[in-house]
Amino acid sequence: TIHPFISGNKWRKLKFVLMDARLKEKSTLVSFGGAYSNHLVAMACAGAMYGFRTIAFVRGEEVTNFMLGLCATWGMELRFVSREAYKNKQELFDKSASPDWYFIDEGGKGELAAKGCEEILNEVTGFTHVVCAIGTGTTFEGLAKAALNKGMQADGICVLKGAEAMDAEIGKAIGHNHLWMVHHQFHGGGYAKTSPELFSFIDDFAQHTGVLLDQVYTGKMVKAVVELVEQGYYKKGDRLLLIHTGGLLGLLSRYS
Ligand SMILES: *Cc1c(COP(=O)(O)O)cnc(C)c1O
Repeated sequence: TIHPFISGNKWRKLKFVLMDARLKEKSTLVSFGGAYSNHLVAMACAGAMYGFRTIAFVRGEEVTNFMLGLCATWGMELRFVSREAYKNKQELFDKSASPDWYFIDEGGKGELAAKGCEEILNEVTGFTHVVCAIGTGTTFEGLAKAALNKGMQADGICVLKGAEAMDAEIGKAIGHNHLWMVHHQFHGGGYAKTSPELFSFIDDFAQHTGVLLDQVYTGKMVKAVVELVEQGYYKKGDRLLLIHTGGLLGLLSRYS
């Protein structure tokens, strides 16, 4: 764990973005997300730590929950916008932007964020494969790029339904080859959709390892790896590195 609230990959994704904002002398980080966005929580906390104002455009009608509550505690300004208006993020930004605003895409997506994620593999050796959950694909893009340089295979478990177009986007960034693959059959019904099977897998995993998984990303990823092993996708001798990307606050919504 790098930090309890700038959790997992979100710290990696923000690192070079915050450095860029500082370099450009921007005082205010502006981003976008749903009411349970791990990215917004991370950005609110990081903004407070590093002296940036933070503003978030939040999708949908005004609500409160413990995640947005935390964001507000760190001083993030929340602006709720309709689902329709939310679709065009650049326009939302441009309409009220001031020169000291710095645009950060939904989920922290972007090139600088991927660059931060490349650093994850600097810290490990001895694995043949690296696996992570995929939302925007930015974390996987960085991981896969670093894996290529080490001759490792990278597998991404996509948690969105119907996101096959993502492969072309990743291919554009890191090239098409047999060393990386996005698996699209493990979304379990779509983004943030859950099932009793998923929760029983998460509980079983927690009881056997002590490791908590969230139901949106890491739970689906580890469950997929178990299924891929059962299907013979991985071979004897393969050494798998599974990236726990965080998301443990989101897990709490299950109990509230
Ligand atoms: C944001 C998030 C992801 C997805 O990362 P992307 O870079 O958007 O693909 C995966 N797992 C957790 C826990 C996250 O919070």
